[in-house]
Amino acid sequence: MTVHPEIGEILVQSDDLRHRVRELGRQISDDYEGRPILLVGVLKGAFFFLADLMRHIEPDCEVDFMAVSSYGSSTESSGVVRILKDLEAPIEGRDVLIVEDIVDSGLTLSYLMKNLGAREPASLEVCALLTKPARFKVEPDIKYVGFEIADRFVVGYGLDHNQRLRNLPYVAALKQ
Ligand code: 5GP
Repeated sequence: MTVHPEIGEILVQSDDLRHRVRELGRQISDDYEGRPILLVGVLKGAFFFLADLMRHIEPDCEVDFMAVSSYGSSTESSGVVRILKDLEAPIEGRDVLIVEDIVDSGLTLSYLMKNLGAREPASLEVCALLTKPARFKVEPDIKYVGFEIADRFVVGYGLDHNQRLRNLPYVAALKQ
């Protein structure tokens, strides 16, 4: 496969993504056996991951989406989050699983957990494809993690740089 000219190192190859996403789906299926799940995808970055993950989840599941934007510079989240699109339905009493693309400082996720937690779901857990532990400003409570990666700005598999490069089938660092 040709590597895109803006792309540096490939951090997670598409085969590894496929295997890990299948493993996560199996683990989630075991943990939620017999309990319907409401998957909450965080737009836009999580849509590849969510679509692939859902194919490996066996319990009944529904999907809803939120879109948030975090104030701050283009690469640093401030933790002040604006909801651009909210869920379509109440989540009170539901088993909710937030599906995130990447957790960097953890500030966006911490806001989402507080916001959704206040709506009184029966349970609230997080599944993140990627985390950057070296960047955490708050210790996020993430039950399912795909891959821990180094402190690099990554694109591909749904993740963008200025809205581009989401279509790459792997996760790669941008060229410096
Ligand atoms: P946090 O609040 O954890 O610092 O930032 C989370 C959000 O910042 C993610 O949902 C994602 O939209 C964006 N983000 C953080 N790191 C990266 C990265 O390496 N690549 C891309 N494309 N987005 C990132």
